[in-house]
Amino acid sequence: MSDITRPFSGKRYFERSEALDPCVCCGKAVRRDRPFSQVLVLDGGARFALASEDVDHDDNGNMGCFAIGSDCLRQLRKELPDVYVERKKAE
Ligand SMILES: [Zn+2]
Repeated sequence: MSDITRPFSGKRYFERSEALDPCVCCGKAVRRDRPFSQVLVLDGGARFALASEDVDHDDNGNMGCFAIGSDCLRQLRKELPDVYVERKKAE
């Protein structure tokens, strides 16, 4: 089942995620030659960090930041308006 609020759970994530820098939701490659967004994955991949929470960066379950595509980010924000998002400059 596909649930936008769960990291790595897009229907085709594992099929697509062999791409470099896959979107954390759907596995499609995220372009880094233009500004892009990253989200922070916690609890060993079970959920995304929220902007309002105090994240423990030493926690073993903190998997760090993952790129997310703009379509998925839009959907995720509908379901999880408080999701923590980091804007990155083009690389
Ligand atoms: Zn995506």
